Amino acid sequence: MTEHEDPSRDKLKQHFAKRVIHQARQVLEIWQRLQRNQWNEDGLQELSEAALLLQRYAERFEQAEHMQLAQGINRNLQAVSDNRGRLNSELINELNQLMQRLSRTGLRHGDRFEQTVLPPLRKPVYLALQHLERAEHLARQLEFFGMNAQPLDSANAFRAAMLERHPAAILMEVDFSGPGAGVQLAESVQAGLEHKLPLLFYSHDDTDTPTRLAAVRAGGQEFFTGTLDASSLLERIEVLTHVAQYEPYRVLIIDDSRAQATHTERVLNSAGIVTRVLIEPIQALGALAEFQPDLIILDMYMPDCSGPELAKVIRHNDRYVSVPIIYLSAEDDLDKQLDAMSEGGDDFLTKPIKPRHLIATVRNRAARARNLKARMVRDSLTGLYNHTHTLQLLEDARYRAQRDGQPLSFAMLDIDFFKKVNDNYGHPMGDRVIKSLALFLKQRLRKSDSIGRYGGEEFAVVMPGTDAATAHQVLDGIRQRFAEIHYPAQQQDLSCTFSGGIAQLGEGMDSKALSQQADQALYMAKHGGRNRIEVFRAG
Ligand code: GH3
Ligand code: MG
Ligand code: MG
Repeated sequence: MTEHEDPSRDKLKQHFAKRVIHQARQVLEIWQRLQRNQWNEDGLQELSEAALLLQRYAERFEQAEHMQLAQGINRNLQAVSDNRGRLNSELINELNQLMQRLSRTGLRHGDRFEQTVLPPLRKPVYLALQHLERAEHLARQLEFFGMNAQPLDSANAFRAAMLERHPAAILMEVDFSGPGAGVQLAESVQAGLEHKLPLLFYSHDDTDTPTRLAAVRAGGQEFFTGTLDASSLLERIEVLTHVAQYEPYRVLIIDDSRAQATHTERVLNSAGIVTRVLIEPIQALGALAEFQPDLIILDMYMPDCSGPELAKVIRHNDRYVSVPIIYLSAEDDLDKQLDAMSEGGDDFLTKPIKPRHLIATVRNRAARARNLKARMVRDSLTGLYNHTHTLQLLEDARYRAQRDGQPLSFAMLDIDFFKKVNDNYGHPMGDRVIKSLALFLKQRLRKSDSIGRYGGEEFAVVMPGTDAATAHQVLDGIRQRFAEIHYPAQQQDLSCTFSGGIAQLGEGMDSKALSQQADQALYMAKHGGRNRIEVFRAG
């Protein structure tokens, strides 16, 4: 669109509404930073200012959902400030929920949802390639995966972009703006940064060792050669940038002394950690099931049962085998501490403990536990949930849907004629297609949807709060876009399609019946010619 055209009011409004999205990103980025680092007054102040600005933009550009969320955030931040800057679990939870919703909110444009809007936290990737057309082509491919990429055509444009905004990652061609100049450019830019950015180098031709060495010295974390394809690039970027994690840690504190428990709670809350206190150890299993903590802090001595006894009970339950348990006690007899550890504890902290020490221990343990859990329930090729865990999630979702009277859909997807991909292009290419569909689904489905790799080239999606018609609409959109991807390959480019079957949970139905219906619908889709999505119909 040029300046001379007279844009309709609608278009103009949409143009300005992008500011709302930009501001929402700012708010989310500050929130994320607060999660990672300590909460402090400066951070809170920054968050308040950003949220107020978001509210103002949202009002001005008539984005009702953003407006409502920003108001909620500001109300909660005001409550924190009224509480003399002190956080508590309720406030953290409320803020977190608002942030989660904010991260899922796209632009609304009349009644229509604006499909092209990127998820709010995706910063762009800067593409500094010798040939602008190549960079533009790559940017379009990356866009299919929901990644925002910005091609830059000169060293000056690159520097200017860096001044304006730091990207999620940089892809730099070794010879960008002159032989070997790309490496130097990247190095000089990185040198001025406190936090180094993920940096990937590219060279069309294979290069000599000195060039690769220079790339490593410039901070390059990857070196691509040959034909660049979007999905392998994306895969590396995903790893290097770690997908954002804004869920606060959750800690269950079990202690018969309310004063001690409240003290621990205050310390953890001040670091943005959500807590729940349990004075009666006997209720531990119920609290675990409901609260799903990342970590447990356990008192050694309680009247009804001892800490180590309770730890044993917890460990007997398969689902809580890997939740870290930290003892917090005045016990300073090392033998007793060791005994307690051998009964399923992970660490022993002696009272009185410095708040910083407690926070650091909880954070480290909880982070490691989350990582471990992620590896246990995930498929290694794609990072999606594995078969067993997908079924577990389906069962949890079924329970909640029936309890809350909400719809639930389950979808099974299967890549079409996949055997031919392996036969004609080789197994590694087959793997690449599987990974790229996994990534594609992750980028395009909602955060509340659970995506699993069901088997070889089969996927499953649990979609809470979604009826079959909506699920069909969403997955059919994904199906169409996926079919447009071209994977560069010898002889000719490869493209693939998939088929899908959807079933919606009915009254009194169990999750086994639901997955069987989805499977039948998938069969119908295959039978009906593939590259289509069918909804289960009885009879
Ligand atoms: P249809 O359209 O009916 O689904 O045909 P299809 O060829 O996709 O289906 P079929 O189930 O006959 O073949 C699936 C193939 O997927 C067989 C198997 O070798 C391959 N496969 C399964 N897991 C993997 C994997 O992890 N990597 C690769 N490259 N191939 C896999
Ligand atoms: Mg198949
Ligand atoms: Mg199959």
